[in-house]
Amino acid sequence: MEKCKSLKEILLRIESACRRAGRDPSEVTLLGATKTVSPDTIRDFFECGLKVFGENRVQEFLKKYEVLKDLNIDWHFIGRLQSNKVKYLMGKISLIHSLDRVSLAQEIQKRADKAGVVQKVLIEVNIGEEKTKGGVLPADLFDLFKYTLSLKNLKVLGLMCIPPYTENPQEARHYFSKLRELRDTLEKEFSVELPHLSMGMSHDFEIAIEEGATIVRIGTLLFGERKR
Ligand SMILES: *Cc1c(COP(=O)(O)O)cnc(C)c1O
Repeated sequence: MEKCKSLKEILLRIESACRRAGRDPSEVTLLGATKTVSPDTIRDFFECGLKVFGENRVQEFLKKYEVLKDLNIDWHFIGRLQSNKVKYLMGKISLIHSLDRVSLAQEIQKRADKAGVVQKVLIEVNIGEEKTKGGVLPADLFDLFKYTLSLKNLKVLGLMCIPPYTENPQEARHYFSKLRELRDTLEKEFSVELPHLSMGMSHDFEIAIEEGATIVRIGTLLFGERKR
């Protein structure tokens, strides 16, 4: 198999989706979602030009981080985050996609302050209001965002969502447009800039791009089916 063939194909599909939406492809970052993906595979894709990778679990991330230290990888954290694990991420993760509660914001502030860094984050919104999913409910988003404005070592750059799974990805479109509208409203209400919308996965990233995604998080389509 040609090395990293999937990467080239996805980049082409991102480009066409941007063209359809009248957007510049440079506005969209491809993040490789690497849960269960081996460090060797990550290394291969890095060498093929993929620079941004996202992990879901702190333990798994720390192992890969050590093994791949020689590469200049831009690591993101995209999974549910327990407050007691925040301290392990400081200085290693450029963007946390999953801030969803005040207590987690407080912990990130505390640890970032200690480490002398400003941690960039996205607020994850439970856009489908599903009981089993992480993310702040849309109704609680404004309060959480307002609270983060008081934290000097934490900077919110935008919003993230994982919409309910739908067989037909067109059905996810209204969730993506809703996240964009929430972002636009926050920007107006608080006179801030929130440049990022992290939305879209293997089966629906093109729809997400049409609705304004700036980061698409792709696993299966890049690396194949997960074994776990
Ligand atoms: C696994 C995962 C992805 C990628 O999902 P695929 O369907 O494999 O592309 C994206 N975002 C998050 C938060 C994930 O956990």
